[in-house]
Amino acid sequence: MDRLHARYPFLEAAREAVAEEAVDLATVVERDRDVVDRARERVLAALDGEGIGPPRRDPRVELLSYPVARVLVSAVDERVLIRYYARAEAATAHERFTADLETTTELKSVERTGIALEELLREFDLVDAVRPVGDGYRVGVGAYLRLATDLWGEEWRLVNRALADGEVPVTDGELRTLLREAVRVRVEEGLPFDVPDAIAEAVEEETAAVREALSELDLTREIDTVVPELFPPCMTALLDAIQTGEHLEHHSRFAITAFLTSIGMTTDEIVDLYRVNAGFGEEVTRYQTDHIRGETSPTEYSPPACATMQSYGDCVNKDDLCERIAHPMAYYENRLEDADEDELEDWRENASADD
Ligand code: SF4
Repeated sequence: MDRLHARYPFLEAAREAVAEEAVDLATVVERDRDVVDRARERVLAALDGEGIGPPRRDPRVELLSYPVARVLVSAVDERVLIRYYARAEAATAHERFTADLETTTELKSVERTGIALEELLREFDLVDAVRPVGDGYRVGVGAYLRLATDLWGEEWRLVNRALADGEVPVTDGELRTLLREAVRVRVEEGLPFDVPDAIAEAVEEETAAVREALSELDLTREIDTVVPELFPPCMTALLDAIQTGEHLEHHSRFAITAFLTSIGMTTDEIVDLYRVNAGFGEEVTRYQTDHIRGETSPTEYSPPACATMQSYGDCVNKDDLCERIAHPMAYYENRLEDADEDELEDWRENASADD
């Protein structure tokens, strides 16, 4: 098997190589432990924020572990896992093609395992949309918008670009970031898919390991600190809306309440926080909060992941940190970790001092 395909398993040619091998995934997951182990490593490393883990020497194991990793991600079927996984595959690809492209420039030749810029552009149908100009490139505005849409940071907004003749100027590094996005979208495409029962049964152990790792993710770790200044922008906006008396849709109210319970607030404290809302109904708030907390229901609900917040229109005012996380709890935890201990003023201390 071609080492290039093992290095970049999301390429169309790699998919064809897998098909040509007439590889039956059911047989692979049943008999090829090395492939399944590497697939599990790919996904667990993605959750640990370690890319997809170190590659195996055997290109066959490395290549086949990619479709098997997709099986695991599909079998677990959690949006947050798909996001983590696709980002990790894309980050690793970005590291690898950055190294390849630098080698190519230096040696003016492409190593057998390396990829050239032209190949990447061809792969993502960008040949006609990207042209070199001076030290950088010009990207057709359509392609630019398609690839930059999920990139956050003022510099990616079209209004901050010197758009001319339907083209957007980008640097070398920015073009690679856009290509990383193209890889992420490619990896996410088609996930999750229906996993046939026989295959799902064969990877039950691996799926359980991934589920466990997912449940141990930072976002579910115990937090008991309430510092509204460090809340993610979406939750700040929802809290502001509540405190200014706006009516919130059910999904928005659910999101902010689940967030507040997850960071350690009691029902009484949440009721106090909502009390300023003119349309506040204490009884309903208590009932909903206890329900979300799992006191009057069989489930303790977690706040929705960013993908769900986005789909409901609750994801607003994103900032740079939002680009690196997939869950509002992860955002808050990051901000808490970066904050100076002495500056962390818990809202509850002030609230009780005011009583
Ligand atoms: S990206 Fe996530 S944390 Fe940031 S505003 Fe959107 S939903 Fe909130």
